Amino acid sequence: MSALQELLTDELRDLLHAEGQLVKALPKMARAAKSPKLKQAFEKHAEETKNQVDRLKQVFELLGERPKAKPCKAMMGLVEEGQEQITEGKEKEPPVSDLMLIAAAQKVEHYEISGYGTARTMAEKLGQNKVAKLLAQTLAEEEKTDKLLTQLSPPLLDQAAEDEEEERSEEHTSELQSHHDL
Ligand code: FE
Ligand code: FE
Ligand code: FE
Repeated sequence: MSALQELLTDELRDLLHAEGQLVKALPKMARAAKSPKLKQAFEKHAEETKNQVDRLKQVFELLGERPKAKPCKAMMGLVEEGQEQITEGKEKEPPVSDLMLIAAAQKVEHYEISGYGTARTMAEKLGQNKVAKLLAQTLAEEEKTDKLLTQLSPPLLDQAAEDEEEERSEEHTSELQSHHDL
């Protein structure tokens, strides 16, 4: 096996492990999401992620390699951070907890975008066009998910800012009230 194919196989094993973790993590993110649009985005990507695992297995077959996962420590850490956001978000208002989920999820997508970009480029260099095409398909799904999450943020940010404004004016009113009572 060429050194480059070995490098590609290593990257794919890392991605296989990463996707396997996400198949389990994304439904949890969907359950934790309060906004229907965010919930739907996570549900859709959970389904896509199952296909991405199948696609990776196809890629291993095309390369004549065993689909053996190699622990992706980075994704283990990112999933752990996502779980922390879910737990900490339970104490927070919906726009804030959803924003926490988006922040965690975008870190995950960016890691995947980087991994698939690298793998696709190596496959192209090896002349493995079918493999490159399959990897490009997944890459496009990760990029689309990342963009969608970016689009879902502004209304939640506005809502969070509005809530804060309301809270501040309520505090002000009760301060005036207590002053008056004196
Ligand atoms: Fe993925
Ligand atoms: Fe990794
Ligand atoms: Fe993804």
